[in-house]
Amino acid sequence: MVAPSPPPDTYNVLWLQAASCGGCTMAALAADDTGLLRSMARFGIRLLWHPSLSEESGAEALAVLEDCATGKLRLDCLCVEGSVLLGPNGSGRFQMLSGSGAPMKDWIARLAPKARHVVAVGSCAAFGGMPAAGHNPTDARGLQYSGWDPGGALGKAFRAGSGLPVVNIAGCAPHPGWMIETLAALALGDVSAEHLDALGRPRAYADHLAHHGCGRNEFYEFKASAARPSDRGCLMENLGCRATQAPGDCNIRRWNGYGSCTDGGYACINCTSPAFETPSGPFQETAKVAGIPVGLPVDMPKAWFVALAALSKSATPQRVRTNAHADHVIVPPARKPLKSP
Ligand code: SF4
Ligand code: SF4
Repeated sequence: MVAPSPPPDTYNVLWLQAASCGGCTMAALAADDTGLLRSMARFGIRLLWHPSLSEESGAEALAVLEDCATGKLRLDCLCVEGSVLLGPNGSGRFQMLSGSGAPMKDWIARLAPKARHVVAVGSCAAFGGMPAAGHNPTDARGLQYSGWDPGGALGKAFRAGSGLPVVNIAGCAPHPGWMIETLAALALGDVSAEHLDALGRPRAYADHLAHHGCGRNEFYEFKASAARPSDRGCLMENLGCRATQAPGDCNIRRWNGYGSCTDGGYACINCTSPAFETPSGPFQETAKVAGIPVGLPVDMPKAWFVALAALSKSATPQRVRTNAHADHVIVPPARKPLKSP
């Protein structure tokens, strides 16, 4: 059955999963405290079809896609989760859309020009992500980027009906707030080119760094570094944390209200950036040259960093130094003795 055309004040979203682990959808399901579908409904967003969340399957699902492609059903937003597989040999046959006889890449190429907005959900759809790692045997691409290079599956010049390029909600997986907030802003007509950064990421979150608000910031300031994931110290010097370079506000608005990668003892792997999937060494080790981390804070000259690090280390309070190497507070902050009344 084909869904009837909705009233014009709804914002019709079609969500496809290309080469995806499904993690972006899993993250989206935890949006707010109301869940994804209720959050969407609050902003007038109507989910035309989603491969995991919709009842329609088989011919019914294909009819929805076909109606969007022919213009019978208004398509406000095409969301694609997962990278687009162009292989083998440009045929796209590594991922066929089941029952349609056509590769996913062809469906995306048909549907994208019909949409007012095209959204890449997650770093795979944005830049290629995990499926593009290594020698990329499936020729996995993002919608508009292949790693750092413009020119993904839709090409560099692609613009959706609104005139915007692909909106890249980068992250592996993206924070649920980034997804809902971006879709809501698009539905409300609140997104123009200046709201996106140079890689098409919404600046609402990409203008921050994942380092901002990290609970380990006091250890960072004194370069009191963790040696093991269970340590409370900063993860940058030894354990590979790239949050000082990673766009994202994940430590300001924590995941599901209370957690983040670094809260959990996992270094930030800069999952919001192209090519994060192919670091120069192991994810949880800091690459160094002459003892200095290769990945320094984005806007700090190397000489300053080295000088400040040396100064900070020489001034590290014993409390901070001790707690950095423990999994709980060993030395509490000194407190002035209470005066007797
Ligand atoms: S662990 Fe990472 S995010 Fe936290 S303070 Fe250190 S560098 Fe910043
Ligand atoms: S902390 Fe880093 S790895 Fe974790 S979600 Fe944020 S940007 Fe991605």
